Amino acid sequence: MRVEPGGAVLDGVALAASIRRRVAEETGAVARQGVTPGLRVLLVGENPASLSYVGSKTKAALEAGIRAETLRLPADISPEDLLGEVRRANADAEVHGILIQLPLPPGHMASKVLDSVDPAKDVDGFHPENVGLLHQGRPRFVPCTPAGIVEMLDAYSIPLAGRRTVVLGRSDIVGKPIAALLTGRDATVTICHSKTRDLPALCREADVLVAAIGRPGFVTREFVKPGAAVVDVGINRLTSLQEAPERMRRSPRIAAAIAAKGRVLVGDVDYDDVEPVAGWITPVPGGVGPLTVAMLLANTVKAARLRLGAA
Ligand code: NAP
Repeated sequence: MRVEPGGAVLDGVALAASIRRRVAEETGAVARQGVTPGLRVLLVGENPASLSYVGSKTKAALEAGIRAETLRLPADISPEDLLGEVRRANADAEVHGILIQLPLPPGHMASKVLDSVDPAKDVDGFHPENVGLLHQGRPRFVPCTPAGIVEMLDAYSIPLAGRRTVVLGRSDIVGKPIAALLTGRDATVTICHSKTRDLPALCREADVLVAAIGRPGFVTREFVKPGAAVVDVGINRLTSLQEAPERMRRSPRIAAAIAAKGRVLVGDVDYDDVEPVAGWITPVPGGVGPLTVAMLLANTVKAARLRLGAA
């Protein structure tokens, strides 16, 4: 394999900061019309990762001038009572965006809860009405992570029209919506999953490769066409080197982080292996993650603008 010079890093932290500044300006414009955009997060139970995600989302929302509140609900809340809280948020005129933090504890059917959110307040873009609009090419609320990925590719002028793109993973949260967005941008899209055969060869055809499978360091340079843009959506928490695949265990960076903090975040891409051949690459952390939060804020202000009839 011919090895190209090292990849350019796609900086999600800087881009997210600029999106958040833009959102703050838009919040100001909406506020001048007498409306403060409002976000209500429903958090059920005490999942530590969810607590941390919700904390960063509400902090970022407040910094952008959005009225953000987290409704903490006990893990043993009944499905009926949870649906009642969603209905209350649907009916509250001060709430423009509703976010159900996933995963929900056992006993709740996530699809039933997500379906009960008012589609006009569905800032996560998971309601079937918004999913349908996205797939028909007339998006309203686009799921935040895929929306952030497209913002990133555009910000770095990475061409999509006519390009081969491969999406690893077919979840409703990332894989399917990013495939729909890329199709809408005239890319030729292949979606891969756990039953796909000969993954490395398929992925090597990609000009843009999006990895969203939740497997640490799964994507090595064997999967990457030299010069391709590699977008790593994966967020995998490792607490020991044994949890990493063999090649990743040799990374001094990862070993040092585990030795110092007892944990490290890694993506689905083996960054140290892939970076030298990729044309562009997102780091983990600091790539796609910060954009997810920024796009949630953008969707919330959009929901407020739509209510005002101005978007
Ligand atoms: P998910 O719902 O678990 O879906 C994983 C997908 O990957 C499935 O379609 C699965 O195939 C496929 N897959 C799993 N193992 C595979 C393998 N060995 N080969 C090929 N395909 C495989 O995951 P998700 O919610 O999309 O999340 C994916 C990753 O992104 C996770 O690490 C998650 O933490 C991260 N994430 C990050 C952000 C962010 O803000 N950066 C946001 C959301 C998610 P099947 O369908 O055949 O089972």
